[in-house]
Amino acid sequence: MKQCSEYWQIAVPTPLRKLFDYLPPQDTTLAPAPAPGTRIQVPFGARKLVAVVLGASGATDVPISRLKAVAAVLDQEPVFNTELLALLKWAAGYYHFPIGEVCQTALPVLLRRGRPQQAPGISKWSLTSQGQALALSELKRAPVQLRLLQALKQHHNGLDSKELGHHSSNWRSVIRAMINKGWVQQVEGPCLANSQTEPMAAPVRNTDQEQAVAAIVAELGHYRTFLLHGVTGSGKTEVYLAVIETALQQGRQVLVLVPEIGLTPQLVQRFRCRLAVPVAVQHSGLTDAERHCAWWMAHSGEARVLIGTRSAVFASMPQLGLVVIDEEHDGSYKQQDGFRYHARDVAIMRASRLAVPVLLGSATPSLETLYRVQQGQYHRLALSERAGAAQMPHIETVDLRKMKPSDGLSPALVEAINKRLQRGEQSLLFLNRRGYAPVLMCHQCGWLADCGRCDARLTLHSKHNSVWCHHCGYQAPIPKACPECDGVDLHPIGEGTERIEQTLAKFFPKAKIVRMDRDSTRRKGSMEKILKSVHSGEADILVGTQMLAKGHDFANVTLVGVVNADQGLYSIDFRASEKMFQQLLQVCGRAGRADKPGQVLIQTYHPDDPLFAALKTHDYQNFADYILQEREQTVFPPYAHLALLRAEAPAETAALDFVQSAHRSAQHYINQDVRVLDPLPSPMPRRAGRYRAQLMVQSRERKPLHIFIKQWLGVLEGSKDSKKVRWSLDIDPMDLY
Ligand code: ADP
Ligand code: ZN
Ligand code: ZN
Repeated sequence: MKQCSEYWQIAVPTPLRKLFDYLPPQDTTLAPAPAPGTRIQVPFGARKLVAVVLGASGATDVPISRLKAVAAVLDQEPVFNTELLALLKWAAGYYHFPIGEVCQTALPVLLRRGRPQQAPGISKWSLTSQGQALALSELKRAPVQLRLLQALKQHHNGLDSKELGHHSSNWRSVIRAMINKGWVQQVEGPCLANSQTEPMAAPVRNTDQEQAVAAIVAELGHYRTFLLHGVTGSGKTEVYLAVIETALQQGRQVLVLVPEIGLTPQLVQRFRCRLAVPVAVQHSGLTDAERHCAWWMAHSGEARVLIGTRSAVFASMPQLGLVVIDEEHDGSYKQQDGFRYHARDVAIMRASRLAVPVLLGSATPSLETLYRVQQGQYHRLALSERAGAAQMPHIETVDLRKMKPSDGLSPALVEAINKRLQRGEQSLLFLNRRGYAPVLMCHQCGWLADCGRCDARLTLHSKHNSVWCHHCGYQAPIPKACPECDGVDLHPIGEGTERIEQTLAKFFPKAKIVRMDRDSTRRKGSMEKILKSVHSGEADILVGTQMLAKGHDFANVTLVGVVNADQGLYSIDFRASEKMFQQLLQVCGRAGRADKPGQVLIQTYHPDDPLFAALKTHDYQNFADYILQEREQTVFPPYAHLALLRAEAPAETAALDFVQSAHRSAQHYINQDVRVLDPLPSPMPRRAGRYRAQLMVQSRERKPLHIFIKQWLGVLEGSKDSKKVRWSLDIDPMDLY
């Protein structure tokens, strides 16, 4: 029911935690307010902003003379339906974040700017008949035109902006010239890569898979959280696909969330081939137009499946009937700035409100999830064996105290790689540190190269002969002499991926070595190129960071070497050992995925750490139980709920002053269930020239924590100290940095 009301309540995208009252547009006084979820344009200060109607009321607290009128109504139908709008309101309340900004998160950029809901389609460029007839030799002196012409000749349906971008960064101006010559035309195509092919056949499911599918399918139409717990390669994706197919047959849409770097072209391809329905994709690598299109496809119901990263949890899907969260333990589901939501947690809440099942998949579930299984809140389904013929890899530690490494590699690891080279198999080396070396030291006086703006060391990068700060982005040439003693005896200490790549080249001059890390995949299309060289068998040895650990299915990799497993063992972060164990198990899972057995060698100076014993027996549950006990004793999640107040400022004491005054004011609102810990400088007290401090709030129960925070936030927002710092509140923080 629409109602006639004088005051419209609007969610405006500003940092203020409240709704704003507006008068109806001047030309339509007494018109009914549009349905909640409709976009409108409002004057806000000197600007005009796109905002969302949340409701209407007959009363307002604001003096009438100060009320402004809505400038325009932008939608005929709401962008958020009742379900989604209620979810956004819940999220704004739970994360104590302004509803206006939460609503923005749920919209693609172009809709935030007021564009119509319906996406126009994606531009593509193809050859005209004149262009088709053109001989390549005519373009000898225009190499970029020649390259584009060759590419376009191979793709009769045309290429989109992203594909053209792979061929030249300057493609737009070159294409414009080619259009002017009459060789190329621009066409607007549908923005959905529609898979109309016959679906590919599924493998025959084993008993575990069959049972899992049956259990989940039985709950379609009801809320239930399932944990699908199976080692990498045990066939979890096959289970997703089977359940998704049933949900699709029932006329439902399906949302599949994947981690930030889990969204590989192979994964999307697999879904498109197996499900004969339109599949839309949403991730950070898309253009604004593509994102708009994906939103529209899901919103209009044309896309039946949406595969997306974190923010897709807020996608508009009117017939949503199943949510799948792959690698549910992955850290990238948590937004680390601004609106700090956790997509897995929001997804579970969304499913429960919608009364649909949600399926969490992982080989290494988060401790939160395992705990909820223990409590009977979630239902665990196990895939106990690898699908098909693949076996679990054999895991061993290499004791670096006894086997001295040379430039990062122990003789045992070198020998193992050598064997693979002789057998024509591939090796994968994992090291979670990019660059050449993490430290540059003067051997004369002991000086270490520091970042001037952070409490951190500079990393040596050999490619540009420079030192970089990985925290603030500072870069400088490698110093020729020590600034302390003028000595020239400067040495890199420790290893990064670049150095390991060099060491490998020294040991194996004939092998083809490829490196995969943030630096080697910066350019568009470079990641695809690296993956291709591995799949085609061209690459012999692959060295890289955690990018390698996730999701990839490399059939011919039979050796995984972990260059340094000790980085995460002794950290102040209470999640460090959980993260490290998950990462190591994931990396180990890359070995022996097909029919050849895999071997894993882990180099460490601490081979007796209980973590490795659990790792060798692939006993995740055992390890998790051990860590859970620790968490219970120290009252950390999942046995407690946390909120972290962070502050930073250029002035040395401002941040600490603010959290100290926040600590004092907390005492007025504290209830017996809530503990406010002592204010502290952050683990990295200075970053990018700003001093940082933090304050942790802890509670065994969620409810008293949120009651406390609500009152406390009101005080913080009004305090004088808060104006001198940049501050934020993180509900359920994932790391303490
Ligand atoms: P996960 O998602 O757990 O890593 P996948 O579903 O990707 O595992 O399966 C790993 C590989 O095993 C894939 O190549 C898949 O096609 C294959 N596979 C899965 N289930 C079966 C099965 N029941 N029989 C034969 N092969 C299977
Ligand atoms: Zn020196
Ligand atoms: Zn820095």
